Amino acid sequence: MRQNIVAGNWKMNKNLQEGVELAKELQSILSANKPNCRVVIGTPFIHLTEVCKAVDQDLIGVSAQNCADQESGAYTGEVSAEMVKSTGARYVILGHSERRAYYGEDNAILKTKTDLALKNELTPIFCIGEVLEEREADKHFDIVKSQIEEALFHLSADDFKKIVLAYEPVWAIGTGKTASPDQAQEMHAFIRKTLADKYGKEVADEISILYGGSCKPSNAKELFANPDVDGGLIGGASLKAEDFQGIIAAF
Ligand code: PEP
Repeated sequence: MRQNIVAGNWKMNKNLQEGVELAKELQSILSANKPNCRVVIGTPFIHLTEVCKAVDQDLIGVSAQNCADQESGAYTGEVSAEMVKSTGARYVILGHSERRAYYGEDNAILKTKTDLALKNELTPIFCIGEVLEEREADKHFDIVKSQIEEALFHLSADDFKKIVLAYEPVWAIGTGKTASPDQAQEMHAFIRKTLADKYGKEVADEISILYGGSCKPSNAKELFANPDVDGGLIGGASLKAEDFQGIIAAF
């Protein structure tokens, strides 16, 4: 059975002390109210070590938001997958639309990053999704399919099973415009069919596909009620324990 997951993406928010405080607050809330899904928090790199100490990762998994496309060496300012792993983190968000748009990450780079994450036993939370013009031009299915094919379809079925996918229509991220439950289900079902065509139904049915884009306590339940929506990747609403807990409680 695939896992339901609610994963937070803190982006470039919270200094170290604030981040550790939020992690501790979540730890205390979730120890008292055991979640009915896997919970993950994606913190800035410099927070990882301290946040890993502040939470029980069987309750709250810790994730980086990126890793380098190189193993090690003269790449000033970069952080390798092996370094992420050494902090104790277990996940890494890859291919977020902000990385694609602002830092030139394309499918070829993301293919390498995925391989390095898997080599270091990190679970990639791999983001895919179209921009508004692509949806308006009715190209959203083709775009999402090619993002998956080009970055992930070189993986064996066994490795593919280690991936978590996050469908994040770019027009819904941080805009307050959520995809409707029907739009989310339609794309998630398409993604699962794409996986089934390549790896077979059994593998496709094991992959968690999260929805991301202005998900909040008030809309999480109807989004997560869809058969192919296995949780959410949450930006803004993951920065306040109460809001994040409200989304987790949708399961
Ligand atoms: C995100 O950036 O992954 C995201 C889903 O952001 P928000 O929830 O703020 O739209």
